[in-house]
Amino acid sequence: WHERLLGGFRRTSDRLGENISGLFGKAALDEATLDAIEEALIASDLGPATAARVRDRLAEERFELGLDEPRLREIVAQEVAKILSPVAKPLEIEAFPRPQVILVIGVNGSGKTTTIAKLAHLFQEQDYGVMLVAGDTFRAAAIGQLKVWADRIGVPIISGKEGGDAASLVFEGVKRGTAEGIDVLIVDTAGRLQNKAGLMDELAKIRRVLGRLNPAAPHDVVLVLDATTGQNALSQIEVFKEVAGVTGLVMTKLDGTARGGVLVAAAEKYGLPIHAIGVGEAVDDLRPFDPSEVARAIAG
Ligand code: GDP
Repeated sequence: WHERLLGGFRRTSDRLGENISGLFGKAALDEATLDAIEEALIASDLGPATAARVRDRLAEERFELGLDEPRLREIVAQEVAKILSPVAKPLEIEAFPRPQVILVIGVNGSGKTTTIAKLAHLFQEQDYGVMLVAGDTFRAAAIGQLKVWADRIGVPIISGKEGGDAASLVFEGVKRGTAEGIDVLIVDTAGRLQNKAGLMDELAKIRRVLGRLNPAAPHDVVLVLDATTGQNALSQIEVFKEVAGVTGLVMTKLDGTARGGVLVAAAEKYGLPIHAIGVGEAVDDLRPFDPSEVARAIAG
C-alpha cells in the first residue's frame, strides 16, 4: 500500500518537478528566483501559505545554501510536514456515555460508504462494538450498499426504506446502540449538495434528535473527500463546514491518480483534523495519516 499511497501524490510531486526545474544553476537566490519558486509551489497544489513558508526559509538561508533541486525538495518536505503534523489526529473512541456518534458526510461518489465500512472495520479490530445507520435514505443504492458492507464485516445496521426519515433511524440507532452496549454508532448521511437547503434541514433535524438523546452528540462530523477531485475538495470543505459543521476529514482515493498535494492546501487553510486516508477499495485500505510520510511523498 505504500507504493499505492505514493501514487496518490505522484502527480503533485511530478508537477513540482516540472515547475521547479530550470530554476537552478544561478549563483545567487535573487528575488526573481524566489518568486518563481513560490509560484511553482502554488502551481503544484501546495497552497499559498506553504509556498510562502518555503520562500521565507530559502530567503533566510540564501547565502550558505547553494540551492539545488534535492535541497529544495528537502525543504519542501520539512515545511509540508510542519503544516501537516498538527492536523494528524486519528479518530479516538472516548465518548461517555456511549455510544460515540460519528456522522459521516460527503458528496455522492466521494467514497463515503466505503469509508464507513473501513472505519467500522478499524474500530472492530480495536475491540469496539460498532453499529451502522443507513441514513442516506435518499438513494436506495446507498442503503443497499451499506447493508452489503455491514454483512460482509459483520456489524449490525439500522436501515429503513428509500425516502424514509433519516433522523428517526438515527434515533433508533442511539436507542438500540445504548441498549446493546455499542461503543460507536457510525451514521451515513445524504450527500446531495445540489439541494443544499434540503440537506441542511435534514442534518439539522438529525442534530436535534441526537441532541435530545445526548447533548454531546454527534461527537464527530467527518467529511469524506475524494483526492482525485483536486482543488474541488477545498470548495467541498467550505460548503460542508457551512451546512454541517465539520470536525475532521478523511481523504480517499490517494492510491489513484490523485493530486494529493491538495491535502496540504486544505490543512493550511482550514486546520481541520485529518483522521485517516483511503488508499484502495478494500476494507483494510484505510491508513493512519502519517505527516512525514505524506510530506516525503509530495516532495518526491
Ligand atoms: P459514496 O457514493 O460516497 O458512498 O462512495 P462509495 O463508497 O460508493 O465509493 C465510490 C467508488 O469509489 C467505489 O467504486 C469505491 O470502491 C471507490 N473508492 C472508495 N474509496 C476508495 C479509495 O480509497 N481508493 C480507491 N481507489 N477507490 C475508492
